[in-house]
Amino acid sequence: IVQVSKVSKSYGAVKVLHDVSFDVDRGNVVVLIGRSGSGKSTILRCLNGLETFSSGEIQIAGHMLSEAKKDLRALRQDVGIVFQHYNLFPHLTVEKNITLALKVVKAMPDHEAREIAERVLAQVGLSEKLRSYPEQLSGGQQQRVAIARSLAMSPKVMLFDEVTSALDPELKEEVLKVVEELAQQGMTMLMVTHEMNFARHVADKVIFMHGGRIHEAGAADELFANPQTPELRQFVSSRV
Ligand code: ATP
Ligand code: MG
Repeated sequence: IVQVSKVSKSYGAVKVLHDVSFDVDRGNVVVLIGRSGSGKSTILRCLNGLETFSSGEIQIAGHMLSEAKKDLRALRQDVGIVFQHYNLFPHLTVEKNITLALKVVKAMPDHEAREIAERVLAQVGLSEKLRSYPEQLSGGQQQRVAIARSLAMSPKVMLFDEVTSALDPELKEEVLKVVEELAQQGMTMLMVTHEMNFARHVADKVIFMHGGRIHEAGAADELFANPQTPELRQFVSSRV
């Protein structure tokens, strides 16, 4: 469902992605790890058209991306992205935060949008927060609303960029649990995270990025137990 072939990208003279290629099968969870600046966010952002790239090709959820322009609106309905900072609208209720795009982008009638809001909130365990405002919620709850908002668009692929990094440990757990449940329901996901235990338990594949390249990739257990390069060895030992 995702095929990335030889994607390269530069900011000015600085090359930040070098011939990055990988696949994600439908229903699989792939975790991206690597040091700060290794290109993890950049590749995610390329996957839903938030960044352009200079060469290579991406196929995702039936969309074909290249250096050329593409239909971003259709792409973003099929590929959801959630960031470290949840970016909810502070002046709107949880329900309105979720239904806004449905009404504006999909021109959906109120009652239908509300039914979807109720469904996705139940999915993230926050049914009772429909009429709350973001500031009345904990960080973990806000992040779950952000995930629900993304799910409301019925994406085929979800991208997560360090969605738990800004949260206290116990709030991290509740967000990771929601992500794990999504995985069990068969959602295809590509996720940047520093949660190595989560990667070990949930990921079908782990990709280690270093200097804008895929340095190593494989099953989590194997990769962590048996790193083939000094860079991954060092990364793993700094995390456990
Ligand atoms: P982190 O773990 O800190 O989030 P990352 O692996 O997500 O790091 P990226 O954000 O993808 O790293 O950045 C990759 C490289 O691209 C870095 O060297 C960064 O400095 C550079 N970079 C990112 N955005 C820009 C930009 N808008 N302009 C110039 N350089 C950028
Ligand atoms: Mg990043």
